[in-house]
Amino acid sequence: MNIKRNVLLNPGPATTTDTVKLAQVVPDICPRECDFGQIMLYISNKLASFVGDCDKYTTVLFGGSGTAAVEAMLSSVVGDGRILIINNGSYGLRMCQIAKSYSLDYYEYASSPVEGLDLNSLEQTIKAAGKKFTHMAVVHHETSTGLLVDIGKIGALAKKYSIVLLTDAMSSYAAVPIDMEKDNISYLASSSNKNIQGMAGVSFVIAKKSDLEGLENIKASNFYLNLYAQYAFFKKENQTRFTPPVQTLYALKQAIDETIAEGIKNRYARYCRSWETLTAELDKLGLSRLVADKDHGRLITAVLEPDHPNYSLDGMHDYLYERGYTIYPGKIGSYKTFRIANIGAIDYKDILNAVALIKEYFINEGIL
Ligand SMILES: *Cc1c(COP(=O)(O)O)cnc(C)c1O
Repeated sequence: MNIKRNVLLNPGPATTTDTVKLAQVVPDICPRECDFGQIMLYISNKLASFVGDCDKYTTVLFGGSGTAAVEAMLSSVVGDGRILIINNGSYGLRMCQIAKSYSLDYYEYASSPVEGLDLNSLEQTIKAAGKKFTHMAVVHHETSTGLLVDIGKIGALAKKYSIVLLTDAMSSYAAVPIDMEKDNISYLASSSNKNIQGMAGVSFVIAKKSDLEGLENIKASNFYLNLYAQYAFFKKENQTRFTPPVQTLYALKQAIDETIAEGIKNRYARYCRSWETLTAELDKLGLSRLVADKDHGRLITAVLEPDHPNYSLDGMHDYLYERGYTIYPGKIGSYKTFRIANIGAIDYKDILNAVALIKEYFINEGIL
């Protein structure tokens, strides 16, 4: 089968290999069969093994986009506790919105969307809190800007004050190295369609088993997304409580096997090379970036839009889209940016081609 190859430079779903696409074409199977349970068990173990020891950490799978995992984590874990949520971009804001929806006792710690976290100020806030924070949540890599936080330092701070750390690692997991034990992360949310290079539709929370077991007695404010219930049922039956996205899981299994074959270190090196190519080429076009290199991940870049009357994001998007490349609008307050992600089954040559198309568009429009 010949499948047209599009290069997705949007921040997920990312480009997939043909082998991942084709892994979805399988004989029909009832997901309640043991054979399918074994596939989910394999997926669950391997996903946890990328960031921790499977004896201590486990994966809880849900059908849904990544936000489902973030919502499951926040709404299942905090209970009557108090959570500090670091908001330094759109996804930090989303965690605050989720906390609000569930009427959690949360404190929004606002931090610059373009500069690294001030850990001293964060520590002062934790110390000065009238009512102690039991939990803290942070986005590891802010997909809206490309800002990457030092998760190890935040984990150390959480440890110092006996705070349980929750991380939205949606767009960093399976690329940026994470060690849940060393980084002191109790819960980590991610999904099937970013750096793991699978199809959209599976979201998951990787959790420290000892913390997860402790959730049994927390009063649930959710139902479908209940982390403990999903964990306990899977542990007993090797099944999710409700119908899983069967074909997406077959694709995820293939994507996991391809991740193991490449190795996360090599995958990150491939992404880094693409990012370095991207930034060097953007420099040549005179385009600047929202976030300084020292605070920048190597995965997704917010680029400041050129200030020229002939420029339009839609026009540039369409020019690239017609040629098989998808770029994405910015998503952060009043900053005028577009975004280019270099994640997925692509490499620096695809990035060179994409920037060459941007240049072509600029020349055609008289911008350059
Ligand atoms: C992609 C992403 C999500 C989830 O978004 P969905 O549209 O629900 O898949 C959450 N947080 C971050 C940081 C993300 O990059």
